[in-house]
Amino acid sequence: MNIATQLVRSGLAQGDRPAVARGSMVLTNYAELSDRVARLAWALRENYLLNPGDRVALAMKNCPSFLEVLYACWHAGLVAVPINAKLHQTEFAYILENSGSRLCFATDELVETLAPLSLEHLVCVDTPEYLTLCGADPMACAARQPNDAAWLFYTSGTTGQPKGATLSHRNLLAMSYCYFADVDQGAPWECILHAAPMSHGSGLYSLPHVAQASCHVLPESGRFEPAEIFALIEAWPNLSFFAAPTMVKRLLDDTMDRDTSNLKSIFYGGGPMYVADCRAGLERFGPKLSQLYGQGESPMTITALATHFHADSAHPRWLDRLASVGIAQSVVEVRVADDDDNLLPTGEIGEILVRGDSVMTGYWGNPIATAETLRGGWLHTGDMGSFDDDGFLTLKDRSKDMVISGGTNIYPREVEEILLRHELVSEASVIGRPDPEWGEVLIAYVVPAQAGQEDCGSLDAFCLEHMARFKRPKAYKFVAELPKNNYGKVLKTKLRELDAAALANGRGD
Ligand code: AMP
Repeated sequence: MNIATQLVRSGLAQGDRPAVARGSMVLTNYAELSDRVARLAWALRENYLLNPGDRVALAMKNCPSFLEVLYACWHAGLVAVPINAKLHQTEFAYILENSGSRLCFATDELVETLAPLSLEHLVCVDTPEYLTLCGADPMACAARQPNDAAWLFYTSGTTGQPKGATLSHRNLLAMSYCYFADVDQGAPWECILHAAPMSHGSGLYSLPHVAQASCHVLPESGRFEPAEIFALIEAWPNLSFFAAPTMVKRLLDDTMDRDTSNLKSIFYGGGPMYVADCRAGLERFGPKLSQLYGQGESPMTITALATHFHADSAHPRWLDRLASVGIAQSVVEVRVADDDDNLLPTGEIGEILVRGDSVMTGYWGNPIATAETLRGGWLHTGDMGSFDDDGFLTLKDRSKDMVISGGTNIYPREVEEILLRHELVSEASVIGRPDPEWGEVLIAYVVPAQAGQEDCGSLDAFCLEHMARFKRPKAYKFVAELPKNNYGKVLKTKLRELDAAALANGRGD
């Protein structure tokens, strides 16, 4: 099945429903969107002589044409390659080359960056040329097999070059089912706000919302501005959105009195949400949070912590559950295994493995990495974690972020969780530093809640009070901000480099 048939269906059955809006203004309904997609699809095949299976890149910030281009690619039987609009020119060049994209759609501010790259075709969606393409003859939705590639999802590359996780039509369909079953339960689904990049989580979750004929709301600023997000929540009934934990935190930092009664749900994921922030979110927004854990290789679909688990504060293990990433999503099996892929018992920490319909078919053009990552038929996530007796998975750290000090494994996330409970701490990231005596020692990088509140003694006392002695950081380093990638994820690799440089310059303590 071609995933684009879901838009055809919404266009027919719910044609008059608003499909795309900018700010509070509706731009298109489902009948119009579906029609434009069928026309653009034909133009892709006819004007550019693209064949089914050819790749088309989307170097586009969130904008009204994003969905149009995405679905037109699928409607025409092509493979979409959405690329984060904030990447560097060399990263665009790498992904365009690696995916073999024959055509690249771009929003106007990216044209200058992309034009010098070797590209067969570059089309700016903000030009009359693009409008002409949307006026071509309409074509019927191309036939696709379930395992045919639909979306090349380039991983965020927190280590090394990004790899293109090849997501098939079946994978995307499975992810959509899980959205309704595990992540955002309970009708009506009316609007989805695209506050995070559509090239990643927010775009993936546009699929169940197209199937459901929800309105896709794009912030006018094209960015994540808390004041604007709150205004859109007030403007749109039953609004849901995907947010990285850092975005939730930014919303919580806004202290104005806001009416969020229209909010249906915020689904967060993509990085650790600390319990303190989660509780603050529940207090601020009510029981409207849900969490998902996934990775490009099994998009949005490994585990989920549904809203009702967040809300169940009377449960004896409520706080443990908030600290977890929830239970396996409906279409996957999740297990924790040792280095030899043997299943580990409940409570033991090992690598998280995933198997099921949402797991990628492989890495684009990289059979060696594919064989390694999908060995034995299981996706090896590189994440470490453990299950509890109720089937809730708690993530520890990626294996490479784990610190071994004096022969003992320490998971920095545990230490970060505790530091974040200290009132002087706004953000914290803990890394291992090579040490001749211990092998590694823990160093905490801390963003103080307010400048001038840097107090190592108070943090150290707090750690001594709340964690085993051997886990406490050896040094605290105060910084104005933590190094993050374009998705707001803390780059521990970069932090380790900065730490090594500081040490070399005699600024280690
Ligand atoms: P990416 O493939 O770029 O989306 O990155 C996926 C990685 O983000 C996962 O392998 C995890 O390490 C991390 N991640 C995703 N969701 C969560 C979550 N809910 N909690 C903690 N880490 C997460």
